[in-house]
Amino acid sequence: MAEIFVYIPHKDGVADDAALEMVAAARKIDAEAPLTALVVGDGADLDKVCEQAAAACAKVWKVSGEAFAYPNAEVIRKMLVNILPDKAVVLVAHDTFGMDLSPGLSIKLDVPFLSDVVDIEALEGSSLKIVRQEYGGAVSTRVSCDIGDGVVINVRPGAFKAEDAAGAAGEVVDKSAEAGDLSCGRRFLEVVEAEVGDVDITKADVLVSIGRGIEDEENIEIAEELAEAIGAVVSCSRPIVDAKWMEKSRQVGTSGQTVKPKVYMALGISGSFQHLGGLKGSPFIIAVNKNPKAPIFQVADVGVVDDILEFVPELTEKIQEM
Ligand SMILES: Cc1cc2nc3c(=O)[nH]c(=O)nc-3n(C[C@H](O)[C@H](O)[C@H](O)COP(=O)(O)OP(=O)(O)OC[C@H]3O[C@@H](n4cnc5c(N)ncnc54)[C@H](O)[C@@H]3O)c2cc1C
Repeated sequence: MAEIFVYIPHKDGVADDAALEMVAAARKIDAEAPLTALVVGDGADLDKVCEQAAAACAKVWKVSGEAFAYPNAEVIRKMLVNILPDKAVVLVAHDTFGMDLSPGLSIKLDVPFLSDVVDIEALEGSSLKIVRQEYGGAVSTRVSCDIGDGVVINVRPGAFKAEDAAGAAGEVVDKSAEAGDLSCGRRFLEVVEAEVGDVDITKADVLVSIGRGIEDEENIEIAEELAEAIGAVVSCSRPIVDAKWMEKSRQVGTSGQTVKPKVYMALGISGSFQHLGGLKGSPFIIAVNKNPKAPIFQVADVGVVDDILEFVPELTEKIQEM
């Protein structure tokens, strides 16, 4: 088996939860294969990320330099093409950056690309069997792919359990000198932080989150009443913000806020990967949806098939009685 590489997403010196989840995914591909973390960035904080990666992977390749100060996928793609060995199996998170980096990387490396992978079933010879989702999570497909010459895989954040992935004491190797020519047409101008708004949903332990299933702006009050009864904060999916029913600062997802609650109630939310991409730290998910086939039920710890407009007021009443 060729070497497996995990591209470590990180911010402010802290590796993202998706890093350890991808290590778990790598072990599911082949627990015996050599595993190398790719830690790319700039500044003093990078060594902290290397330390965290070294706790999970036998080897860490650190690539630092001014060109990597921002997640510029074009620059990072060029560097990876220069440093990766033949037949590498490369795992990247299926987030905004990963979706920008990976398809082009697979073309440059001339290897297959597997997008939005949610499970790894088996490696038989060089044939890898995985499960991925299509049509916004409405359909799960089993795919068999020959990875003998290498592959780039985008792994859905939250799909693998991070705790499966502890226990190494890896060696950090500085590969910055091998980055090669990094000239490119794309320039990174600035990072625009999301507005915080009146309430900071990123700090809440319990979120009551509403989606299009709430049907009308006037119905939002049933979620607010439930949130008040259980000491939670109300958040939402993107269509609620697009309809201007709630502020952008309340939106959970890849183009909204990243939240890390202990409990997440998804009311009338289908469970698109863009929405679930904003959920970190494996919260306990309670989903209420009238469609039993809604993708949210695949990640929910408790699922209730019901109309939220009837179920939620009843639930609030029972909680208030208690
Ligand atoms: C580049 C990009 C970025 C994006 N970023 C985000 C993001 O950050 N966050 C985000 O949320 N989305 C984002 N999206 C949109 C995303 O793809 C989905 O369209 C969105 O998450 C769907 O929101 P929803 O689940 O509320 O609505 P829907 O997908 O329409 O689902 C509504 C659900 O409610 C259920 N329902 C309807 N009525 C009831 C009822 N009365 N009782 C119970 N259940 C009911 C339905 O069965 C359905 O499952 C992004 C999309 C793109 C292309």
